[in-house]
Amino acid sequence: LVQQAYCGQIRTQDGVDMGRRHLKVAVIGAGAAGLVAARELAREGHQPTVFEQGSRPGGVWVYTDDVEEASMPGARKVRPQVHSSMYRNLRTNLPREVMSYTDFPFTRAWLDARRFCSHEEVEAYLEAFADKFNLHQYIRYETRVLTVRPIQAAAAAEPAAWHGNGHRAQSAQDLPSHSTANGNGPSHQHIAENRAVQSHDSSDPPRWQITTAPVDSQGAAASAAPTQDFDAVVVCNGHYSDVRRAELPGAEQFPGTVVHSHSYRDNVAFRGLTVVVIGASASGEDICREIALTANRVYLSARSWQNPEWAHDSAAFGPRSNILRRGVPVLLGADGSVEFEGGERADRVDVVMHATGYKYTFPFLQGAGVVAVNDNRVEHLYQHIFPPDHAPTISFVGLPWKVVPFAQYELQSKWIARVLSGRAGLPAAQAMHKHIEAFYSGLEQSNIPQRYTHMLGDKQWAYNDWLADACSSDVERLPAWRPLMYKVAGDTKRAFPERYRDTWPESELVGIAAEEAQALGA
Ligand code: FAD
Repeated sequence: LVQQAYCGQIRTQDGVDMGRRHLKVAVIGAGAAGLVAARELAREGHQPTVFEQGSRPGGVWVYTDDVEEASMPGARKVRPQVHSSMYRNLRTNLPREVMSYTDFPFTRAWLDARRFCSHEEVEAYLEAFADKFNLHQYIRYETRVLTVRPIQAAAAAEPAAWHGNGHRAQSAQDLPSHSTANGNGPSHQHIAENRAVQSHDSSDPPRWQITTAPVDSQGAAASAAPTQDFDAVVVCNGHYSDVRRAELPGAEQFPGTVVHSHSYRDNVAFRGLTVVVIGASASGEDICREIALTANRVYLSARSWQNPEWAHDSAAFGPRSNILRRGVPVLLGADGSVEFEGGERADRVDVVMHATGYKYTFPFLQGAGVVAVNDNRVEHLYQHIFPPDHAPTISFVGLPWKVVPFAQYELQSKWIARVLSGRAGLPAAQAMHKHIEAFYSGLEQSNIPQRYTHMLGDKQWAYNDWLADACSSDVERLPAWRPLMYKVAGDTKRAFPERYRDTWPESELVGIAAEEAQALGA
């Protein structure tokens, strides 16, 4: 069926109204999340327009030598804003099969056949995905979104597509009513702010006005283009670009260099240096090993360890003896020393590198009253996706972390596309608020810090199943080999941190993934 769509309805070629809403949807970002969001929106009959500030698809996987910090050893070209955090020799920390979208296997090799492959290979995979599903046609490259604002009902240039022929949501799960939050609901300032900003009908979700600007080769945005109106917005701007740093008392007087791993590209300029890397999650640990190949000594400093054995210098941490483990730094000295928790010291430190992660930021939503980010919690979001008071016309793909991302983004996008079309439902706003509050208090009762709100880990599989079930009967849950392969890869990493990427204990699972790929015709 060829869909001839117009605002509010979808028609098939023979003129039968399928009764779904067909919306004009802006997608922000053409990384792994934005690409699959565009595909799912188009599949569902929506009209996506993807705004991408870079000149290619792939997001963080588009490597650049450019960095934000001139003081990073080896820095060549410095730009005020660099999206990618990839370093030159990065290999994935997940096996390629499990990283794939559900129906576009990552078993074939483009540039690098290794299972834990280079960033170039992942970029090639994403580019091939965009080619295969003809996604470039939707993407406006070198275009940065500057502002996203709910449109006041009276100012809307076109009638809200919401009033089209779309189905209301399923009975008990009525579409959000935008009724005021009751006593149980949050009374946060941003919600009050929302209500001041919004003037759309109390039963209507808003439409959106978007301002963009062309971006030049230096990454700078020119003056804003005229605004464009959309029925809905899907935010896919990534969350590995805006750095988070540890508090470092004494940093102002420290004579060495203090940088963030966001600007790390390679170890060449670290030859003979003494380096403290703060943070032992995936990047910190990887970078520490890489720098240790050229540096004199590397102190890996962390609050907690993926494997408790790694907290001790005596524990096996590969063949290198120049990596020492320490607690968090408590003082940087004017003499170039670093003092760690527990009183240990490192002397004559040349570089302190934060590998302390990134912040969620949505600069284009600043002042729009849609979400607030507090201690790295994006609040309030139902299922990490919909802000109840603006749902379903604004949504977020890709917020959860410690997950296998691409297939999860696909399920999130399928659900969003279906909710927008009316094929899937959402609870009323109040019910979503209640759900969110219960979720937050559950985290609190389990002593899970606020900054881990979007950290799923093992919970990702139940979340993925929930998403699949929420879509409609044509969306299947992810097959069992995926969580198994993820688990085996994690266990192997903890057991052999130095060589897990080239150790394959799960050959049976690799075979199952290959069979699935064959069945999909890849
Ligand atoms: P991104 O890839 O960041 O894409 C966001 C896009 O939005 C970018 O293209 C950006 O230019 C664009 N954008 C942002 N703001 C605007 C704006 N205002 N206007 C227009 N465009 C905008 N995942 C794995 O599965 N395996 C791994 O091994 C792995 N290793 C990683 C290593 C590192 C160092 C990092 C940082 C991440 C790693 N990840 C890994 C996670 C990775 O982030 C995800 O796989 C995924 O690629 C994220 O996709 P995304 O689309 O959410 O974000």
